[in-house]
Amino acid sequence: MSLLWIGWQVCCPPSSLVTRPSLLKTMHCPFCGADDTRVIDSRLTADGAQVRRRRECMTCAERFTTFETAELVMPRVLKNDGKREPFDDEKLRAGILRAVEKRPVDIEEIENAVNRIMKRMRATGERELPSPQIGEWVMEELRDLDQVAYVRFASVYRSFEDVSAFAEEIERLKNVPSAEEKRQQQSLLPDDDT
Ligand SMILES: [Zn+2]
Repeated sequence: MSLLWIGWQVCCPPSSLVTRPSLLKTMHCPFCGADDTRVIDSRLTADGAQVRRRRECMTCAERFTTFETAELVMPRVLKNDGKREPFDDEKLRAGILRAVEKRPVDIEEIENAVNRIMKRMRATGERELPSPQIGEWVMEELRDLDQVAYVRFASVYRSFEDVSAFAEEIERLKNVPSAEEKRQQQSLLPDDDT
């Protein structure tokens, strides 16, 4: 007797490729409730989005199938006041948009920046990340996108203590090539699309 069991398809908000060990450990046999099951076969579904596993219960020997789906779990944000909140890409985007207001920055470039930041967040593998860390990554992106936007964001975010700290940052910026300069430099390089 076999049963298509989809109890593993955890439906939660989109979130890194994190499986949930706690759930895996407590998986019960759908026939007798025993939690000692053995995987006898694993394969990817045709679209590659799921792993299909055949399992056998070590207690009653019934077999059943589970589908495991990867979730894009974003780490939570640990704020300066110690509060934690779910990551919200809208907030991230809004912060960047505010900084680039009336600046010649493509919406597509902003979207790419948001995606890169989210990728970095997931790549840490952490369950939560301090918001200053995320802020630093935003600043790195803005520094490449548009220096005015960068200064706007940094002045709010880092809340420069005084004018000299601010001036120091501006001075540092002068040594960083702007996005436009980088493009020009790149166009001088021979094509490398091997
Ligand atoms: Zn069983």
